[in-house]
Amino acid sequence: MPASPPPRRTGSTRLNARLLALAIGVACVLSMLMLLDPIETGIRVLRDKIRSHPASGSVVVVALDDRSLAEIGEAPWPHAAVATMLTRLTAAGARRVEIDLDLSAGRSAGDASLPVAMRAAQGRVILPARFAVDHVTGQPSYMRPPASLARFATIANTNIWVQRGGNVWYMPYAVSSQGAVLPSLAALLGGVAGQPGDLYPIDYAIDLRSIPVISAADIVAGRWRPADVAGKDVLIGQTSSASQRYFAPGYGLAPGIFVHAVAIETLRGGRPVALGWPWTIAFAALVAGLFLFARHRAAARTVLAAGALMLLIVPIVLERFHIFTAITPGLSLLAIVAGARLWTNFRRSYQARGTTNPISGLPNLQALRQAAIVSTNTVVMARILNFAEALTALPPDSERDMVNQIVKRLGFGAGGATIYHSDDGIFLWLDDGSDTEGLSDQLGALHALFRSPVIVADRLVDLSISFGLDNDRSRTVMQRVSSALVAADRAASEGQRWMTYDPAALEDAEWRMSLLARLDQAIDNGEIWLAYQPKIALDTGRIVGVEALARWTHPDKGDIPPIQFIAAAERSGRIDRLTAHVLDTAVATAAMINRTYRGFSVAVNLSPRLLDRPDLAAMVEEVLARHRLPGHLLCLEVTETMAMVDQEKALLNLKSLSALGVQLSIDDYGTGFSTLEYLRMIPAGEIKIDRSFISMLEKSQSDRIMVHSTIQLAHSLGRKVVAEGVETAATLNELKLMQCDYVQGYFTGRPNPLPVLVDLLRNRRMEQAA
Ligand code: C2E
Ligand code: CA
Ligand code: CA
Repeated sequence: MPASPPPRRTGSTRLNARLLALAIGVACVLSMLMLLDPIETGIRVLRDKIRSHPASGSVVVVALDDRSLAEIGEAPWPHAAVATMLTRLTAAGARRVEIDLDLSAGRSAGDASLPVAMRAAQGRVILPARFAVDHVTGQPSYMRPPASLARFATIANTNIWVQRGGNVWYMPYAVSSQGAVLPSLAALLGGVAGQPGDLYPIDYAIDLRSIPVISAADIVAGRWRPADVAGKDVLIGQTSSASQRYFAPGYGLAPGIFVHAVAIETLRGGRPVALGWPWTIAFAALVAGLFLFARHRAAARTVLAAGALMLLIVPIVLERFHIFTAITPGLSLLAIVAGARLWTNFRRSYQARGTTNPISGLPNLQALRQAAIVSTNTVVMARILNFAEALTALPPDSERDMVNQIVKRLGFGAGGATIYHSDDGIFLWLDDGSDTEGLSDQLGALHALFRSPVIVADRLVDLSISFGLDNDRSRTVMQRVSSALVAADRAASEGQRWMTYDPAALEDAEWRMSLLARLDQAIDNGEIWLAYQPKIALDTGRIVGVEALARWTHPDKGDIPPIQFIAAAERSGRIDRLTAHVLDTAVATAAMINRTYRGFSVAVNLSPRLLDRPDLAAMVEEVLARHRLPGHLLCLEVTETMAMVDQEKALLNLKSLSALGVQLSIDDYGTGFSTLEYLRMIPAGEIKIDRSFISMLEKSQSDRIMVHSTIQLAHSLGRKVVAEGVETAATLNELKLMQCDYVQGYFTGRPNPLPVLVDLLRNRRMEQAA
C-alpha cells in the first residue's frame, strides 16, 4: 500500500465549509452594496491601459474649443455660423453630422440659413435630445431641438449616465421619451440597436485622446483639410473650458462629446456583452474550496495563486471579444478565505510559541498539558538546583548556552523521550516505567555526569541536580509533574540523588515545612548541639582536632539529619544564626580543651552563602577574641561551590580570615570544579578529599589515581590533605602509603557528643603518657 501523505491538519472540514459559506456571503453583500467599485475601477483602468489602442478614427469631433469661442463668440452660436460649418462638412463628404449644440433660436431668430443647410444635407444631420430630472420634484424635463430644425434631422438621445463614484462606465442603447423610443447617439451611429434601459459598457481601452479633433474655428476660417472628415461621422460639440465634463475612468475629466465618441467606437466593435459578477463568485468559490480542502499546503497555495491570477487575466482576454465583467467579488472572496487562513496560521504559530520554551526551543509544561498524554508513564523531573545562581555569575546572554549543555546531558538519560523544559532549570520527561532498575541506573549515571562542570562562556560552572519521580498513574499529568517536583526538591534537601514521590510522606513534608520556623526556637531551647569528629594526623596517630557537626535532636521527632535542616536554612537565608551558634559553641569548646590539650584545633563548616557577607571576618574575629582562642586553632571548611557567590567578595573575605590566622580548608574536594587555578587562588592551607572518593579507594582504580594525584598536587602547592570518610583499616593504610596528612572517618572516630570527646581525649593522653 503506498504511503499516503499525512493530511494537512489546518482545520476541520466543518470549519472550512463554514468559512467558505461565510466568504461567499460577504463577497455577495459587498458586491451588491457596490462597496468594491473603487477597487474594480482601479483594476479595470489598469486593464484598459494594458489593452489600450487608438480609436479607429471613423468618428471625428469638431470642437467648439476656447479658440472657437474667442474667434466666433460665446454660445449659443449664431445659426449662420453653424450652417456654414454644416455645409462645409457635408461638402467635404462627412457621412453624418451630429450637432451637439444649443440651437434655440435666440439671437438667430429669423435666420433661415440653418434649416436650409440641413435640408441640403439630405438626412445626414442628427440633432440631440436629452432630458434632465428636477432634483426637487423628480420630474423629468425634455430638451428637444426646435421643430423647425427637427424636421430635417434624426433625433438621438445624448444623455450621459454618470454612475456612482462619478464615473461614466455604461451607456444606454435607447431611452423612452414621452412615449417614444429614442436611440442613444452611440447606438444610432454605432449601428447597434437595443431596448430602452439596456446598458452597455464603454470600452475605454479605446484611447479617448486618439479621437481626431478639428477646431470649429478652423472650419469656419477654412484652415482645415476637408479630406479629414470624408466618409466619417462628425460630432460637433463643446470642448471649451466652460463646457460640462465627465469622469472618464483612466482619463480624468473629459468633455461629454468625447465620451460619446468612445461609446460609438465601442459599439462599432460589436455588441458588448456584460457578464455581471455572479460567475466570478462561483469561480472563486470553486478555487477557495480547492484551497481549503487541499491536502498539501503547497498545492493549496498554488491553486489560490492560480485562481487569483485567472481572475485578473481572463477579463483581458474576454474584453478582446467584447465581453465585460467585474472581478472584485471573486477576488474579495479569495482574499477573505486566504486572510482567514493566514490568521488561523498566525494564531496557531503564536500558540505554538506559547508551548515552547523560548530559550531551549523545547516544549514546555503547557505543551505537555495540551498533549494530553495518558499518564501511564513515570514522570521524571530533573531539577538544576542552582540554576538561577549559576546564571547570575555568567555573562548576560549565556543562558541558552548553559541550557543547551544541560539538555545535551539529560538527553543521555532520557533515552530519546521528549524533554520538556519549564523555567528556572526544571526539565522533565516521561519514562515508560517498565524498567525501574534501568531507570535508577540511568539517573545514577546522569547524576554522575553532572558532577563534572559544564563550560559556559569559557567558565566552568558547577551544576547541582536532583531528580524526582512520580509513579501514581491515577492522577493527571500536571498533578504528577508537581509531585515529581516536590520529590526532586526533597531529594535535594535530603542529599539524595533522586526520590520517588510518596503521598504518604506528604504529612511528613508538611512537618518539614514547619521545621524552619522551629529552627530559631530550637537553638534557644538547646535542641541544637554539636557532635565532634576527631581528625587524626597520619604520621603520629594523634588527634590534632575535631570537626564540629551540627545536630538537632527534636523532642518528638528525634534526630533530624543535618543535611535536611541545614539545606533548608541555607535556602531560606537563615543559615547565619545557625552558623553563629555553631561557631560560638565550637570555639568555646576548643578554648576549653586547649587548657589541657594544647594545639587542639576545631573545624567549623561555613556555608558558601555566608562567604560574601561583608561582616564575616569581623564576626569570626569577635568570637575568637571572646573565647581567647588563637586564630590558627580555628579551621573554616568551605566547599568548592564558589560559582554560587560573588567571587570577588568571597575571595576578599577569605583573605581577611586568613589574615586573622584562621585556617581555611576546601571541603568535599573533587565534587566541584577542582582546577589547579582554583586551588592557587584560595588561600586555603588544606583540602579535604570528599568521602565518595575515599570510600571507593579499595575498589576503584580511578579513584585511587585521583586521590593519589590530588595528594601530590596539594603537596606541591604546600597544602595539607585530609581524607574524610575513612571507614576501614585498608583505606587508612592506603592513605598512609599515599602520604596523606590527616584522616577523619568512622574508623578513627565517629562524630560524638562533647562528653564522649573529652573522655576520648583523656584516654588517649593516658595511653600516650603510659
Ligand atoms: P561534611 O562537612 O562533609 O561533614 C562530614 C560528614 O561526613 C558528616 O555528616 C559526618 O558525620 C560524615 N562522616 C564522617 N565520617 C564518616 C565516615 O567514615 N563514613 C561516612 N559515610 N560518613 C562519615 P553529617 O554530620 O551528616 O553532616 C553532613 C553535612 O552537613 C556536612 O558534610 C556539612 O556539609 C553539613 N554540616 C554539618 N554541620 C554543619 C554546620 O554546623 N554548618 C554548616 N554550614 N554545615 C554543616
Ligand atoms: Ca565539613
Ligand atoms: Ca566533607
